[in-house]
Amino acid sequence: MASKIQSIRGMHDILPDQTGLWQYFETLIRDIVQSYGYHEIRMPVVESTDLFCRSIGEVTDIVEKEMYTFADRNGDSLTLRPEGTASCVRSGIQHGLLYNQQQRLWYIGPMFRHERPQKGRYRQFHQVGVETFGISGPDIDAELILMTARFWKALGLKNIRLEINTLGSNQARLEYRDVLVDYLEQNKGLLDEDSLRRLESNPLRILDSKNPAMQEMIEAAPKLMDYLDEESRLHFEQLQSLLNEAGVVFSINQRLVRGLDYYCKTVFEWVTDALGAQGTVCAGGRYDGLVEQLGGRATPAAGFAMGIERLLSLLEDQGTVIDDSVDVYLALQGDEAQQKGVILSEHWRDLWPGLKLLVNCGGGGFKAQIKRADRSGAKVALILGEDELSNNRITVKHLRQDVEQQSIEQTEVISVLKQLLDY
Ligand code: ATP
Ligand code: MG
Repeated sequence: MASKIQSIRGMHDILPDQTGLWQYFETLIRDIVQSYGYHEIRMPVVESTDLFCRSIGEVTDIVEKEMYTFADRNGDSLTLRPEGTASCVRSGIQHGLLYNQQQRLWYIGPMFRHERPQKGRYRQFHQVGVETFGISGPDIDAELILMTARFWKALGLKNIRLEINTLGSNQARLEYRDVLVDYLEQNKGLLDEDSLRRLESNPLRILDSKNPAMQEMIEAAPKLMDYLDEESRLHFEQLQSLLNEAGVVFSINQRLVRGLDYYCKTVFEWVTDALGAQGTVCAGGRYDGLVEQLGGRATPAAGFAMGIERLLSLLEDQGTVIDDSVDVYLALQGDEAQQKGVILSEHWRDLWPGLKLLVNCGGGGFKAQIKRADRSGAKVALILGEDELSNNRITVKHLRQDVEQQSIEQTEVISVLKQLLDY
């Protein structure tokens, strides 16, 4: 027997009993971002490998070991996108969306990273991303954070906390970098292999290490906060006062440096303890240098991305259940009823476009059809048999309530259903 073909490890089917929750989430998020005046942008899933090397940074986990990179038939190096910001900036430069104007954009879609699959960590996963261009002040940083706070509120999610930090200007970070490297050199004996490699190339990322043996040394390291430039300090203070005034609780985490190279000034993460080590559900910040780094003109920018699987997992743990079943099931007895049923149901759908109606197809005995009706989740079954056909009536059977079935005129169906279903 031929071996069974399975989905790729870490890449999952989203099955019919799960798509209801996905759609609920997607609709809610879309409504909120659009209510803030953001427009959707859709980018290709595959880009030139260069794009990610030049934006995310050569010495990051993503570029070093997580990208799905391959040569296409022309020999060009392509990569399945590991995130959306780089593509969004590429697209903005390419189509002239970024200069002399402000942009508020968002996107949703699959991302690909070759990581070790575990709960909350997959090789194909999905993000909603939001990016803004042309706005340099803390007002837009605050808007982004307040929008995310609104998501959690609308989703009913609790126990997610906000951590913020500032990375300062590129200049301040360079100065701090020298101080940090000096300190790390003095403590070289305590550095693990990854950190030794990063000592020259990306020393700030060492602060982000989760290695328990290094924690004490990291805690005692010089703080970027003490090397901040005046503008970044002010920016960060203003952001904090906006958040305070808006009533958003946050804490400052000075070790929050983010895994991607392109951030400056504000960075933030929403974190939960409910998902084990995969606790970050949303992360973002300011990246004023990225547009220029990718060949465009200097443009201030800020954004965030959130992991949909992690958020849905939180929703599930909290017991959020989405009922996406139909309201009405039409049972049909006999050949003539089967034909008439198709025509009648189309007529009802014309009269009531919101009607959620499942029509029995493929025949079957009465009992089998009522069983299907029950399994469909419908509240009401309509029954059309020979008797009903002969006198233009229909039988209404209540599936969830102990109520006597009733016979009604076919012309009354919609008004009776609207009453029964409480619309
Ligand atoms: P982590 O530290 O968990 O690896 P990250 O810093 O690499 O996260 P980002 O690049 O900031 O993640 O992506 C934004 C969000 O996307 C994360 O906060 C997380 O919710 C989600 N995410 C990232 N990688 C994965 C993955 N492999 N599987 C599922 N969700 C992910
Ligand atoms: Mg990661």
